[in-house]
Amino acid sequence: MNWEQRIDEALKDRQSQGLMRQRAAVSAGAGRWLESESGRWRNFAGNDYLGLARHPKVIAAWQAGAARYGTGSGGSGHVVGYSEAHRRLEQALAEWAGYPRALLFISGYAANQAVITALAGAKDALVADRLSHASLLEAANLAPGRLRRFLHNDIESLKRQLSRGCSGLQMVVTEGIFSMDGDSAPLAEIARIADETGALLLVDDAHGAGAVGDAGRGSCAMQHIRPDILVITFGKAFGVSGAAVLCSTRLGDYFLQFARHLIYSTAMPPAQAEAISAALAIVRSDEGNTLRALLQARIEHFRAGAAPLAWRLSPSVSAIQPLIVGDNHRTLALSDALRKKGVWTVPIRPPTVQSGSARLRITLSAAHTPADINMLLEALHACSR
Ligand SMILES: *Cc1c(COP(=O)(O)O)cnc(C)c1O
Repeated sequence: MNWEQRIDEALKDRQSQGLMRQRAAVSAGAGRWLESESGRWRNFAGNDYLGLARHPKVIAAWQAGAARYGTGSGGSGHVVGYSEAHRRLEQALAEWAGYPRALLFISGYAANQAVITALAGAKDALVADRLSHASLLEAANLAPGRLRRFLHNDIESLKRQLSRGCSGLQMVVTEGIFSMDGDSAPLAEIARIADETGALLLVDDAHGAGAVGDAGRGSCAMQHIRPDILVITFGKAFGVSGAAVLCSTRLGDYFLQFARHLIYSTAMPPAQAEAISAALAIVRSDEGNTLRALLQARIEHFRAGAAPLAWRLSPSVSAIQPLIVGDNHRTLALSDALRKKGVWTVPIRPPTVQSGSARLRITLSAAHTPADINMLLEALHACSR
């Protein structure tokens, strides 16, 4: 078999299983509306949970940042790419989240890869929730050391995996709010067990940071824990892009020496750091509280209206509200039918989720109006008949 045959075969395989992934170019993708050449839909597919991607203050901060610093950072942070804008943002993040240190990364994917591969040695065990995001599981798979998955949000399973032990050190990995299910991890219990066994705890709160908790501090603050490593991302509730790792001074020093994604990669543009700073100021303000309360009202509205539907709702109190359909083709057909009714949701199929659990990933935002939620519910009820 040559390369061409191998690639053709892989594509045909995807196609026949109804698993072909498709992109569509949009003119607006974040916020209330999804717009493209072919039409305009109510957008229930984005991660712009607070509607900050179009906030005038965030846009203005990015523009002013570009005027002041130029468009690119000019290099890795270890060379010339670390600006005053980056430093200001890191200090504000650390103070807001209650950690000695914050380090910026270009994406959550890079942050997770960097942290896990910088820490894990050959004798270590990485004990991760089996539904953890691909960026966490892939990093744990590629890193030296052993990946052990525990059953989703199952404390007994976590204990069993940790009690197997290893000749090195152990790290527990989980998410605050799970990206494909929208449910929350039992963080207080997980933190207690990690502490008892001397394991380091990493929590990826990509979907909680900004969206939940006092001043938007996220899932960990809400459950009163402070993991050794907290990863937050800025492409979701912050409405921008990028990520930060919050940790102790010593761990921060270690990552600056050993996290390859910080050393061999161009730092985020300073203007982007300015935009994230503006988003953080909103997240922690009264306006942030108002936006989070709006989001909660939309979530409750949706769940009350969707409860009578035939499809199973995930036990989620977050902005992520998946409807579990099961079959790949039926999930695609439902998403197509909704699009004809002016509603955009994303069908999620294996291997992103377990086989037989294909779903519509519906995401809600403070940018939605009650009328938007009613329209979504009416479309779903019409399609279920
Ligand atoms: C989105 C997401 C990431 C990746 O973050 P990016 O900044 O988009 O690369 C990592 N972890 C979780 C749980 C996510 O949902």
